Amino acid sequence: MKLFNKKDGVEDEEQDSAIPELRCRLVAANLLSDVRMVVDWEMDIFSRVTPAAAEYTIGLTYLEYLAALLWHRTTEDNLDLARAERILDEHHYGLGQVKERILEHLAIKALRRGRQPRVLAVDDDATARRNLVLALAREGCEVVTAASGREALELLEAREFDVLLTDLHLGQSDGMELLERVRARWPDTRVVVITGYASIPSAVEAVKKGAFQYLAKPFAIEELRSIVRRALEGRALLKGTKGSVLCFAGPPGTGKTSVGRAIAQALGRTFSRISLGGVRDEADIRGHRRTYAGAKPGRVIEEIRRVESANPVLMLDELDKIGREVKGDPAAALLEVLDPEQNRAFLDHYLDVPFDLSGVLFIVTVNLTDQVPEALLDRLEVIEFPGYTEEEKAQIAARFLCPKQLREKGLSSDRVSFTPEAIGTIIREYTREAGIRSLERRIATICRKIARESLGAGGQGAVSVTPARAAAWLGRRPYRPEVMDREDRVGVATGLVRTESGGDIIFVEAARMPGTKELIVTGSLGEVMRESVQAALSYLRSNAARYGIAPDFFERHDVHVHIPRGAVPKDGPSAGITVLAALASLLTGRAARREVASTGEITLTGRILPVAGVREKVLAARRAGLAAVVVPAANREEIDGLDEETRRGIHIHTASSVPDALELILRPAPGVGQ
Ligand code: ADP
Repeated sequence: MKLFNKKDGVEDEEQDSAIPELRCRLVAANLLSDVRMVVDWEMDIFSRVTPAAAEYTIGLTYLEYLAALLWHRTTEDNLDLARAERILDEHHYGLGQVKERILEHLAIKALRRGRQPRVLAVDDDATARRNLVLALAREGCEVVTAASGREALELLEAREFDVLLTDLHLGQSDGMELLERVRARWPDTRVVVITGYASIPSAVEAVKKGAFQYLAKPFAIEELRSIVRRALEGRALLKGTKGSVLCFAGPPGTGKTSVGRAIAQALGRTFSRISLGGVRDEADIRGHRRTYAGAKPGRVIEEIRRVESANPVLMLDELDKIGREVKGDPAAALLEVLDPEQNRAFLDHYLDVPFDLSGVLFIVTVNLTDQVPEALLDRLEVIEFPGYTEEEKAQIAARFLCPKQLREKGLSSDRVSFTPEAIGTIIREYTREAGIRSLERRIATICRKIARESLGAGGQGAVSVTPARAAAWLGRRPYRPEVMDREDRVGVATGLVRTESGGDIIFVEAARMPGTKELIVTGSLGEVMRESVQAALSYLRSNAARYGIAPDFFERHDVHVHIPRGAVPKDGPSAGITVLAALASLLTGRAARREVASTGEITLTGRILPVAGVREKVLAARRAGLAAVVVPAANREEIDGLDEETRRGIHIHTASSVPDALELILRPAPGVGQ
């Protein structure tokens, strides 16, 4: 009672001036009718709350928020592909495949936008066909007719139709059969069946077989129109369902954000980013209920309000880092945001009225797709951003990073230049990454030092950054280009792993000692990798004779496998062959070649199965200065797809069986051959 107790007095003055103003702003916000109804109701309650009550502030903040969300403000897309290509090229070196996929995506968008919806009406009766055409004349769709199932199938073969409208009784042919064939062959086409008054059971059967809706004769024209309209609407949504959200997958610093920005620029949309890394609470995405003063909308709605556009390019960063099952299910909330079937009426808990997110162009980014929940991954069109080769990095540095950093530090590129050798030194000795983040940071450091020194020296004179000067400015080298082992060793093999930052090399060490058949595994390995170690050992035990291992060796020894470098995450099956090589080296006394790294999953029977991330691994091997890699023969397709640049200076061997791989990795037995 106290809450709603509106008395005459001072406090009401404040309220009375707030309400008409709010009303004006809400009218200006041009709300949709269903939203309008809710807002009017909220407004009504609010106008009776006394300003002294906590609810007054909550209500005022809420209504102001609604008014500030510009419901209808969208920007017009520019779908000029030549321009988009120019913008992508202007900002990015290389990335050929990425650019191509993006342009294809935009082309499809442009085509879909341009096409009028198409309806195919099938009836064996000419008058009925004419009536259907007349009835749908004002629906803004193209209506094509067919007199039989066969004619309909021919037309469907030639063009795409959004809706098929068919009588179940087609004289010679059968509407049900047509329905089944269309469902099987053109699942995206929605089928509306028309039945005679006496055949409701067959209509129900048709719906069970996948018809979108049935219409019983006689029907009102308005009913027909409304069903077709709904089928078309749903169809527009469906078209966007699969792969309509772009997902950029790749290590940090490979240009994902920067390409996203270029897409926004090309389309003429605003660009914005939300980092999902560390999101633990569903409310971060879906908002808090409006029950307390600090309640807030979720980040998606908040971002739309901030950029003042209902159709920005919205980049959701680090989808793979989202916390699961912590508080609610943020991944499920995200699914609602991204799914075109649902996001047309996204319900943020704070807003409490549906908001149409279908205009937003979502781009999500991930380092690796492995961690993304399956349901989400299904909705994504994944575009891989591979790591850069050293040569690509050098080009990007010379063309983009150096000029950008010089500009930012107020230096002129006429006066300061980086020699190609200096850039090479920075790449090889001061960075180890698939992308170019630390490279950019190192160049920034040098530019800062130059800026400072040139101020001290009066700001005159040309500066040429040579390897020696770069080294002097950057200080101690964190990396040596040679990271492979210094000599071939018995019991140590080099492997390749895929990490979030691209690829890396690891060393697998094996040692033996007197004992009783125990296997010790250390190096913080994940479960799958531990199993690979077990499998490798079992393979050698069961093939002991072949490798000249004494039959009672395992009875009298313990074996220890260790993988140093705690910082590299170690899991997955792909180190199997390397572990096996280290063990085989230990047990046969044949040293493993230090310049050869291997990757491959093994089976107990000695087959080698394919692995992921071949390009990343080859690049990592090159960075580490290795001469050759041994890759599963089953990865042939990826290997053939590698560009010349990636393959330069490294030998890629393939092996399909353990004995073949070991011949490539291990040196001949002492006393045999070299
Ligand atoms: P990510 O989002 O993948 O972590 P960014 O887009 O932030 O990477 O890229 C890091 C930096 O590298 C940015 O300054 C970006 O402009 C630049 N960059 C990345 N790839 C390229 C490229 N192919 N050509 C030019 N600059 C690039």
